[in-house]
Amino acid sequence: MKAAVLKRPKNLALMDLPRPRCPPGGALIRVEACAVCGTDIKMLDQGHRDLCYPRILGHEVVGRIEEIDRKVQADGRQLRAGELVQVWPGIACGHCHACFRGADNRCRDMKIIGFNIDGGFAEYLALPLPAQSFSEHFGISTALNRLPEEVDPALFTLAEPLACCINGQEQARVGEGDTVLIWGGGPIGALHALLAEMRGAGEILLAERLPGRIREIKRHTSARVIGWFSGNREEGQDPFEEAERTILSETDGRGVDVILTATPEVKIDQRQMRLLAPGGRICIFSGPQPGDYEGMIDLRSMHYLEQTITGAYGCSSRQNRMAASLLESGGIRANWIITKRADLARISDAFEHSSRRAGLKSVVCAV
Ligand SMILES: [Zn+2]
Ligand SMILES: [Zn+2]
Repeated sequence: MKAAVLKRPKNLALMDLPRPRCPPGGALIRVEACAVCGTDIKMLDQGHRDLCYPRILGHEVVGRIEEIDRKVQADGRQLRAGELVQVWPGIACGHCHACFRGADNRCRDMKIIGFNIDGGFAEYLALPLPAQSFSEHFGISTALNRLPEEVDPALFTLAEPLACCINGQEQARVGEGDTVLIWGGGPIGALHALLAEMRGAGEILLAERLPGRIREIKRHTSARVIGWFSGNREEGQDPFEEAERTILSETDGRGVDVILTATPEVKIDQRQMRLLAPGGRICIFSGPQPGDYEGMIDLRSMHYLEQTITGAYGCSSRQNRMAASLLESGGIRANWIITKRADLARISDAFEHSSRRAGLKSVVCAV
């Protein structure tokens, strides 16, 4: 089969590999669509904490079951060859403290496809579903979500990133009437905006500077786009000043209830905390760059203002299921976020589209 293999940072090669076998107790998936994530770009550029080489990347996968263990079920029914499924990329142990409490993305033995085991930028994906990863009593798969036959597989590659946003917004308790600030209007910022709207946020401010992205966000979400990086750093101007001024004037100086970082360009420091209203929550969603987190936080004001700093990494299988059903029901309308499709032979175009950041999401689709 054809597969795109990352041999080391900056070296992504299309290779012919033997077709993987169906793992015992697991599934072999013929990939229909696999989206490029910001993390894939980061892995290509500089590697990643959880990545082992050489590796087939890709963790936002939709495919058709080629072969599957008889025991594996979804929605109480046995999954069969030929069915279309969306894949939760985690392989969790199913019996540790975190798994037991439903936070299986924090499983101590977590393996992630496209990180520790081969992912979806290939014709086939071998998905180990160890007996523990679905309930032994019910045989329900936590990793595979059955999809209706008529859907666009590419759209459902957004289930995983949407689920990560659900995780972030659950951590930050985004709810009715909240004023939410989103730093960054890429695919994740866009999904955060749609989700915050669905969760009843009162006002959504989104800071973005790329015109193509601003246009799409304005067209498809209710977020108010605010200026950012308007100052010229070289001339000693402060790039955040305008954004800060707008945020404080929009909220009568009160600040916002929730801040979600959807770009690594924003540091969490005291300055960021000053944009937060009493009772406000910040979710460190985008992975901070090494060396980016030594800013001092005033713990006294956190105490008096009852503020929370939280983080989110990945998503649980429950959040992944919820995301897939929101896309299916139209509760979240996100097809506009896909701005590029390419086949596996042109995967470099898909990566290029994502790293150039002119559009939003690119998806590698089967021909
Ligand atoms: Zn991702
Ligand atoms: Zn576990």
